[in-house]
Order: sequence, then structure tokens, then C-alpha cells
Amino acid sequence: MHIQDIFKQHTPTFSFEFFPPKTDEAEDQLIQAVHELEELIPSFISVTYGAGGATRQRTHDLVLRIQRETSCDPIPHLTCIRHTEREISDILQRYAEAGISNILALGGDAPRDLVDYDRSRDRFRHAIDLVRYIKDFNETGVHPDPRGFGIGVAGFPEGHPSTPNRLLEIDYLKAKVDTGADYIVTQLFFDNHDFYDFRDRCRLAGIQVPIIAGIMPVTSSKGLMRMGELALGAHFPAKLLRAIARCHGDESYVRKVGVQWATEQCRDLLDNEVQGIHFYTLNRSTATREIYANLGVKNSKMLEKQS
Ligand SMILES: Cc1cc2nc3c(=O)[nH]c(=O)nc-3n(C[C@H](O)[C@H](O)[C@H](O)COP(=O)(O)OP(=O)(O)OC[C@H]3O[C@@H](n4cnc5c(N)ncnc54)[C@H](O)[C@@H]3O)c2cc1C
Repeated sequence: MHIQDIFKQHTPTFSFEFFPPKTDEAEDQLIQAVHELEELIPSFISVTYGAGGATRQRTHDLVLRIQRETSCDPIPHLTCIRHTEREISDILQRYAEAGISNILALGGDAPRDLVDYDRSRDRFRHAIDLVRYIKDFNETGVHPDPRGFGIGVAGFPEGHPSTPNRLLEIDYLKAKVDTGADYIVTQLFFDNHDFYDFRDRCRLAGIQVPIIAGIMPVTSSKGLMRMGELALGAHFPAKLLRAIARCHGDESYVRKVGVQWATEQCRDLLDNEVQGIHFYTLNRSTATREIYANLGVKNSKMLEKQS
């Protein structure tokens, strides 16, 4: 379903993110995890894209499997770094033929072994170039929906590391939206004030599209460190770190603290008119299910009614 229709039918939206596993067996397990989450009635499921290249085909395959084998609506991520125009065109063509309704258009980061990668010769230097290309593709009428693909873009409540000037950064985000993005999904954050402030700054800049809040529960001490890597520059509140320190390394308690923290974030976001919550699941369904249970609801529909 086109994202504009998803927002019309479900506000706030509740969505889950998965990454493509490396083996067929792991992919089967993941499809099982998606089936387990079906009862939560997600508004959509998003599938990440390996900017490095290794898992790109797997994103495509997984998206199509979710579309075919489950009741969930998959949204593929697409990063433009190191892609030629022909490659992007082929990918869009295939998704259009399969009836995939939306794409999350991203810049992507250079793989670790190519840290000095120079993007100046890339056909697509920034996500905005991809947004523009998808908009042009939409005009060709290849997509079964006359509007073409719905387009999402990334937003960074605490700022993106490569643009230290926060005013300029919002201008770049506004440009992506003005070029054709229908919605924004944020990087994970642990302090809702960062999200509310970002949302206010977007509105002040004239960005009116829905902004979906990215939530990732801490489920282990190792996971916490990994989140610091994934979301460079993210602020880890002392209150959360103190709560984790009190667990004295007992991972079952770390998990409880993390899920509780994420639950409180969600409760507060729901009380403050969030337009969508996106759960970074790390391919597991349990923590997300626990958050729903803590919120006292069986599925996303019940959360919608309460908003
Ligand atoms: C919700 C979400 C999902 C993600 N999914 C994936 C994924 O599946 N695969 C993956 O590899 N990565 C993913 N990422 C990571 C993302 O690709 C990186 O964080 C990347 O560095 C930024 O992506 P972007 O789309 O914001 O890029 P861009 O919009 O291109 O921005 C990148 C940087 O360039 C700056 N910029 C933007 N436009 C201009 C301009 N015109 N001139 C100069 N500077 C400019 C921005 O301010 C920013 O600092 C995801 C991130 C988020 C928040």
C-alpha cells in the first residue's frame, strides 16, 4: 500500500525493521519471526540494504518473500552509494513489477574497507539524488500505482556525523522532502526530548511530512556498544546507563531495563502525538512483543484507537 494511504488508515503507524540474513536457513528463521509478528498487525515491515554490496540481492529476495508469504507490507531500503544509474533503474523496475509500493531512499555509508571512498564521481552522491531519480521513475508510469513508489528518507534527531552544522542539515532534509519524500524515519534515540526538538525544528523549517520515531530497545551490554557504532553521535542518557550499571552484568536484567526504557519511550511518544513508531528489531520478535504487552495492547490497531 502506498505510504500516503498507510498514513491515512493507520495513525500512528507501527513498523518493524529487519536485515537480510546471510544464509537461506537464517532467512527461513526470519520469515518465521515475521510470521510471529503478524499478530501485532504492523503497518509495514522494512528491510535494510547492504551499502557494502554483499547482501544486496538478499534484500531483494527477502522483500519479495515477505510480500508473497506473509500478510505484511514490505518496504525495501535502497542506498545509492556506489550504484550506477543502470543498476538503480533495474532495481526500481523489478520492485515496480513485483508491486512493491514504497522505498526508503538512503545515501548509505562506504564499507569499512573503503573508508576513504570518494563519492564525487558517484552518479548519486546524496540520498536526494536518489529521491529525484525515483520521482522521475514514477513519472514513467511503469509502476502499477499511478503515483509510483511512495518515498521515505532518513532523519537524524541528534544530527548526522558528517554535517556538524545543524541548521544546514535541516536545510538538506527539507530539500529531500521538497524533492518528493513522503515521510521521514529517524535514527534511533533514547531521549524523547531529542525527537521532539527535531520534530519542532522540522516544522519550523516547513517540513510537514509525517516523521516516524526510530526505537531500538537495549537487549544486552554487547548490543549497547553496537548501537553506539550503528548510531554514531547518539546520546546515551546517564539515567539509562546507571540503570544498566545496576544490573552488574546480569544480562537478563540488562534486557529488562532496556525493554522497560523503550516501553516508556513509546508510551510518552504516543502521548505526544507521534505519527509513527519504527522498531529496530535486529531480526528478533521477542523484545517488540514485550513492549506491546507492557503497553497493554495486543496489536497495533489497539494502539491506534488509543491515540
Ligand atoms: C531509518 C534509517 C535507515 C537506514 N537504513 C540503512 C540501510 O538499509 N543500509 C545502509 O547501508 N544504511 C542505512 N542507514 C544509514 C544511512 O545510510 C547513513 O546514516 C548515511 O550516512 C546517511 O544516509 P542519508 O540517507 O541521510 O544520506 P544523505 O541524505 O545523503 O545525507 C548524508 C550526509 O550528507 C549530508 N547532505 C545531504 N544532502 C547534502 C547535500 N546536498 N550537500 C552536502 N551534504 C549533504 C547530510 O546532512 C548528511 O550529513 C539508515 C539510517 C536510518 C536513519
